[in-house]
Amino acid sequence: MIVIDCAYDNKIALELGSYLTDKGFSAKTEGSKVTVNDTDIEQILGYFLKETNLQEYSVRKMDSTNFVLAKEVPIEDFGFQRCEMCGYVVSSEEELMVHRRAHGIQLL
Ligand SMILES: [Zn+2]
Repeated sequence: MIVIDCAYDNKIALELGSYLTDKGFSAKTEGSKVTVNDTDIEQILGYFLKETNLQEYSVRKMDSTNFVLAKEVPIEDFGFQRCEMCGYVVSSEEELMVHRRAHGIQLL
């Protein structure tokens, strides 16, 4: 099972979910997370970004089952924080703490 975290972006998650469903994948969207059963999803995510023209977004592989699909934000932008483990960008210290906890959960 693969989880694609769209970084609190529910709209992109819904788009990705219906894109994957259209392509014949069994995708489930919950909030900003999309879950798929297919393991070879990396390339499909690349196609999704290309076909939907989401050039400012990028896909990061966190481990074999977790991906983050998020907007590329220059870290110089005021107030943004970047996760030192995966490069995921959030807009506040609280969000970064919540995000860091997600790494912890995966280690269990
Ligand atoms: Zn991270």
